[in-house]
Amino acid sequence: MSNDRQRPQPVPSSAALATKSSPCSLSPGLYLVATPIGNLEDITLRALRVLGAVDRIACEDTRQTAKLLGHFGIQKPTVSYHTHNESARAQELLAQLEAGGRIAVVSDAGTPGISDPGATLAQEAIRAGIPVYPVPGANAALSALIASGLPAEAFTFHGFLPSRQGERRSRLEALRGSIQEGASMTHLFYETPHRVLEAVEDIVAIFGPAQRIALARELTKVHEEMLRGSAAAVLAELSARASIRGEMVLLIDGSKTSSGWNRSAQPETATAPSPSVAEEVASLRRSESLSEKEALKRVARSRGISKSEAYRELQRGHAGRR
Ligand code: SAM
Repeated sequence: MSNDRQRPQPVPSSAALATKSSPCSLSPGLYLVATPIGNLEDITLRALRVLGAVDRIACEDTRQTAKLLGHFGIQKPTVSYHTHNESARAQELLAQLEAGGRIAVVSDAGTPGISDPGATLAQEAIRAGIPVYPVPGANAALSALIASGLPAEAFTFHGFLPSRQGERRSRLEALRGSIQEGASMTHLFYETPHRVLEAVEDIVAIFGPAQRIALARELTKVHEEMLRGSAAAVLAELSARASIRGEMVLLIDGSKTSSGWNRSAQPETATAPSPSVAEEVASLRRSESLSEKEALKRVARSRGISKSEAYRELQRGHAGRR
């Protein structure tokens, strides 16, 4: 990647680069700030500085962002900016930007504008001649791509697949038709736990059972998992589970050479080793700012054990580390 990439508008050298000692020197404009997709450590130093320096933060869900800001000790006025009030709110935010304001936009998780609010406001700000600055960071699709093992030199992000089977199949058929000899390409989709099984079934039906795919689940979180393998093997693995949970990205290898790859019945799984109660509690405290008691309660519930049993295991974990 080149360091001297072209920007659509000239950016003053000080823009978006306020020094730590003078956060107020942040240039006026709209800041699209990426936030973590699970692990709160995945926020950049610049994101924290910008969030601390803007006049106002427009949030997809103010309650969700309040937790993030609270965790990092940032106090800022927030305003809701989501799919249902996007255009009305955009006018109000534009007026503030035109008056020289500094506004950050954040979504609940990841990069604003990517299957999340943010793009409309950015377009309107650009039309009004207001500087728009990206503050890059976490994104589920790119995180999944780089760890999937599928071609990453060219890829297409499609957002969510249609929920109706007919439309979903038509979309997948069009993709299969677009695959070119020798081309190296990965297709990325956001998927939901209640539809993923049907989506993988459709991939098997349309691309064939040997199609190489990957499913990235709960990235950066305690139960992070990457399933890699033929579509049939991933389908068998998912079908064998009592429940499928969490956030996920589905990836399809769009190279012509993909089919025929990995005909094994079992997918190659890359599941992190099961965390201990102590590790899981520590991770939840870090990623969701929970107290030890709250985190322990959550862990006990997810493991189907009593709170006292979870507490005993926690103590054993602490003792093991001494
Ligand atoms: N703007 C976000 C981004 O930059 O990734 C995406 C927002 S979109 C509304 C939410 C979808 O992203 C989820 O349904 C899931 O498909 C995917 N996603 C978000 N967090 C994820 C994670 N930790 N692991 C896997 N997929 C995730």
